[in-house]
Amino acid sequence: MTTFSNSPSQTDSEATRALQIIESMPGHAWSADAAGRFTYVSPSTLAFLGNAREDLNTSDNEDEFGWRRVVHPDDYDRVAAKWRHCLETGAHYDTEHRLRRADGVYRWFRNSGRPSRDSQGRITQWYGTTIDIDEQKRAEAALRDRERELSQLVDLVPSHLWRLTPDGEPTFFNRRMTDFLGLDLADTDRPGMSRLDAIIETVHLDDAAKFRDALNRCLVTGESFAMRYRLRRADGVYRWMSSRAEPLRDQDGRIVQWYGLCHDIDDQMRAEEALSQLHQMQSDFAHMNRVSTMGELAASLSHEITQPIASARNNARAALNFLDVLQPDLGEVREALACVVADADRAGDIIDRIREHIKKAPPRKERFDLNAAVEEVIALTRSVTNRNGVSVQTRFADGLCLVEGDRVQLQQVILNLILNAVEAIEAVEMGSRDLLISTEQVGKEIGVAVSDFGPGIDPTHLKHVFEAFYTTKPSGTGMGLSICRSIIDAHGGRLWVQANEPRGAVFRFILHGAEARS
Ligand code: ADP
Repeated sequence: MTTFSNSPSQTDSEATRALQIIESMPGHAWSADAAGRFTYVSPSTLAFLGNAREDLNTSDNEDEFGWRRVVHPDDYDRVAAKWRHCLETGAHYDTEHRLRRADGVYRWFRNSGRPSRDSQGRITQWYGTTIDIDEQKRAEAALRDRERELSQLVDLVPSHLWRLTPDGEPTFFNRRMTDFLGLDLADTDRPGMSRLDAIIETVHLDDAAKFRDALNRCLVTGESFAMRYRLRRADGVYRWMSSRAEPLRDQDGRIVQWYGLCHDIDDQMRAEEALSQLHQMQSDFAHMNRVSTMGELAASLSHEITQPIASARNNARAALNFLDVLQPDLGEVREALACVVADADRAGDIIDRIREHIKKAPPRKERFDLNAAVEEVIALTRSVTNRNGVSVQTRFADGLCLVEGDRVQLQQVILNLILNAVEAIEAVEMGSRDLLISTEQVGKEIGVAVSDFGPGIDPTHLKHVFEAFYTTKPSGTGMGLSICRSIIDAHGGRLWVQANEPRGAVFRFILHGAEARS
């Protein structure tokens, strides 16, 4: 087999021992002459390669090394060039390459060789080791893959990620952040300015001081940082960001890094703004609708008010007459005056109701009795229903839970439903002119239904009646039902319509009851 023939000065037993040591060491050992021909290859190598030492030295092509057959084709040229260079110059031979195992599988090895020289400095032998580093290579490759994945993740995550030292000096920006700012870490190194200051320069002037104060406070106290601010994009456009930063602490609780996450919320902020504008518009519309509805009612209300005033006048005159007699009956006078007061109160109530409906009050939250609120609306619409010959029937559930919400807004819903029903009844010449208003409670849900026997709603139009501006009336606005729905929605309830039997429409809404009456 192989021989170890490089130590002529050693005794045979020393040579044998040395060989034993070499051959029992992990890894493979080899020696080669000055021309690069192997003089020794450890048996473990030959077993691995399934090759005779001679094969490693023998080549059909004299420009090639015999071991070309066992080195991975992608590695051979590089390794051969290196080996040739070392043979020529005597430089240390250190390389990594794959070797083919007897079963055809390639494994990575680290190959190192050092020259041994004679007294004239001529290279006499090369001694080397070949160590299997396949596992290590795999582990390194896996680690590299993981690192790549992680850095891809950090770069591709749709947010800005950055890292700061405990003093607040930025040490890392992910790609999203550099792309957004048009700045990388190196660009924030400016003379006479900290990196953090360079970043704060990109924060909107109105937010910068607050940003700096908040961040500095967190750096001192170690509390989490959270703030919304505007940040300048590379194209100069400011966008709203929601930013958070958390400290990373070591085992002793000392802050070692800060990690910041910054998320673009500009679209969301715009949507919120648009929504709040929409709410404002809705409330303006609701107010307009209320005022215009009240405008329509004003004429008939004036009639309603004249009635208690006329009655007060009569009662006052009666009181005067009682006083005109020689011995006035004060009891009768008092009675007449009490009637005057009651009449005035009645007129006052009517005016209060109108005022309550017309004023633009912000939504209120109160608990109230829905039956009583419906009664009030019925009283308010009495002149309209009377004028149109509509008879209002009520079927109120006893002991309803109180309802929580804006009483005036909910009354407006009922008002709209009643006025729509009256208009629907008006549109039908013949048939019942009854308008039924009922309340009911199922579990904790309170329901109100306004039913009429008008023409009803064409089933294909059912889903449109709650849309804004949908109207079939020549002078309609199409806003009433859409406002009603938004009011009921805002109260967490539901408003819908269904066909009445034998004809007409039933508008229903349900609300959550607040609590049972005490
Ligand atoms: P407007 O009353 O100004 O038309 P609304 O939003 O209150 O606006 O109503 C929208 C449409 O729904 C009405 O034009 C009408 O076609 C229909 N509608 C509403 N209530 C009834 C009802 N009780 N019976 C039949 N149709 C109705």
